[in-house]
Amino acid sequence: MSGTLTIVGTPIGNLGDFSPRAVEALEAADFIAAEDTRVTLRLLNHFGIKKPLVSYYEHNKRERGELICARIEAGESCALVSDAGMPAISDPGEELVAQCAARGIPVLAVPGPSAVVTALALSGLPTGRFTFEGFLSMNKKSRREHLASLREERRTMVFYEAPHKLPATLRDLLEALGDRRVALARELTKVHEEVIRTTLSEAALRYADGGARGEFVLVVEGAAEQEAPENVSLEEAARAASELARREGIPLSQAARRIAAMTGLRKSEIYQALTRQEE
Ligand code: SAM
Repeated sequence: MSGTLTIVGTPIGNLGDFSPRAVEALEAADFIAAEDTRVTLRLLNHFGIKKPLVSYYEHNKRERGELICARIEAGESCALVSDAGMPAISDPGEELVAQCAARGIPVLAVPGPSAVVTALALSGLPTGRFTFEGFLSMNKKSRREHLASLREERRTMVFYEAPHKLPATLRDLLEALGDRRVALARELTKVHEEVIRTTLSEAALRYADGGARGEFVLVVEGAAEQEAPENVSLEEAARAASELARREGIPLSQAARRIAAMTGLRKSEIYQALTRQEE
């Protein structure tokens, strides 16, 4: 009979967040699949758990996933952990869960902390509807396209970021989305935990010369509600574009493009009306 895969959340900093049930799940497993076995070994040692470990990470996940599924189908049970937080959330695991689901292998979860939900809850921004955007790509084209697709996003947006990339990411967010409220949740559950609630322009300025330390989650306010686009005259659209350019400090052509997308009017016509108004 097939065994099971159990995904087990681990602390994002404070080991006190590792639940008794998580300890039981690791003790009950035949083997543990871990992102970095050295990191997991420290966790196991802390809780006095002894278990065989296999590594499961980005670059071996295809062949290793196959092996793990075969062992589970042969009757073993596997616990999957990542270095911190919930497996499968910007971490290896997503594909293993899909592979198990496709093969009819039961998948269970022992939920634990995750930086996305912890930061969102602390942000002070609306939490009713939100989107998780993970890490922005370093590839310029996909990064630009990703950010462009978020311009009119009304829901609160959550991003992960490494400290050395923070200045560029704040600059790019400001340029793509305009000035908005942002919460920078840093070193959650650790000694230097803090939440900086500010605006994108102030955050970009604050970190312009680097100096960011520790792990960060960025929680960005969604786009403000726009007026219904129906029956908007060219003059009204041009005035809205002018107001948008002034408010967000963006070029008139960019403002015209965004108002065009909202109203269905042509960007070139809005831009012409706008330059007439500005003369
Ligand atoms: N699976 C993890 C989870 O459920 O949150 C996320 C892993 S992802 C590879 C690592 C990113 O999560 C970091 O770059 C940072 O953006 C965020 N993160 C993890 N721990 C954090 C913490 N203690 N404080 C702030 N951000 C954290």
